[in-house]
Amino acid sequence: MKHIFKKIKEYNRIIIHGHVRPDGDCYGSQFGLKNIINTTFPDKEVYLVGGKCEHASFLGSMDTVTDEMFKGAISIVVDCGDSKRIDDKRINLADYVIKIDHHIPVDNYGDYQFVQEEKPACCQIIAEFYDKFKKKLKITKEGAMALYTGMVTDTGRFRFDSVKSDTFKTAALLLDLGVNVEEIDAKLSIENLNTLKLKGYVLSNFKMTENGFAYVCITRDVVNEYQVSDEEAANQVNLLSSLEQIPVWALFMEYPGEIRIRLRSKGPAIDLLANNYGGGGHEKASGAKLITWDDLPKFVDECDLLVKKYKLEKN
Ligand code: AMP
Repeated sequence: MKHIFKKIKEYNRIIIHGHVRPDGDCYGSQFGLKNIINTTFPDKEVYLVGGKCEHASFLGSMDTVTDEMFKGAISIVVDCGDSKRIDDKRINLADYVIKIDHHIPVDNYGDYQFVQEEKPACCQIIAEFYDKFKKKLKITKEGAMALYTGMVTDTGRFRFDSVKSDTFKTAALLLDLGVNVEEIDAKLSIENLNTLKLKGYVLSNFKMTENGFAYVCITRDVVNEYQVSDEEAANQVNLLSSLEQIPVWALFMEYPGEIRIRLRSKGPAIDLLANNYGGGGHEKASGAKLITWDDLPKFVDECDLLVKKYKLEKN
């Protein structure tokens, strides 16, 4: 962490990247880190690059950065374990690249990597960075709110087993900085009528395999019929999380040109399976992809087998 602090002090222009299809933790890490740097060093230029996360868009919006601006700048990539998923990709134009992450690394990009796989959220790492140097760093309430947003979303509202006592200590630190828990929960929980109707579709149309893998397929037709955004549709993955006897579940989401898999577990590790399908992530939450729907049966069979083995080993 000392090295990251030193590099932030050294550069006057800092560009903070996230991952493609950013989530609350990615946005929270970007906006939280930007807030720490801007508040501590008001003369430095800090820019955020990457895509939009609708459900965390209350934190702010991304900046426009030209190629020229990367010259002489440092790029910091947060919450991304795979160089192919960095958004945006112009890190190679920057003078120096730092990775700050909590995923199982798919590759080791950048000049310096700070990875803590055991942390449930990248925002926790950034908040701990602030805490470690708090005599020298500053943050505002808005920065703390951004970091808390990422901690809430990536821990499933503090419900996942990656949550440890240090997670609550860090959350408490953010509360002491003025975070309003109810305000953030309200912003994250709000849903439109179409999304609620889509939930009905998911609950009526998911499938279950013999050994206990549950999944639902969201095709373009479904997205169009329910008139929801891709993000709203993909966010329904955890609707299947509470099913009895189902340790692994997934949502397959059709995008133009690929089918995104959002794979989840409350039992066996799923990241290695995700690796075989162009993905990765964490032991209990991974992403991957299929090229076409024709690849679905094979993937479903592999998940079913994984669950079968898990249940046999357990009993
Ligand atoms: P998702 O289902 O997209 O939320 O992904 C679950 C976790 O796996 C998140 O932490 C993602 O950042 C990560 N992840 C998703 N897709 C990939 C991928 N293709 N490669 C590596 N990590 C991924």
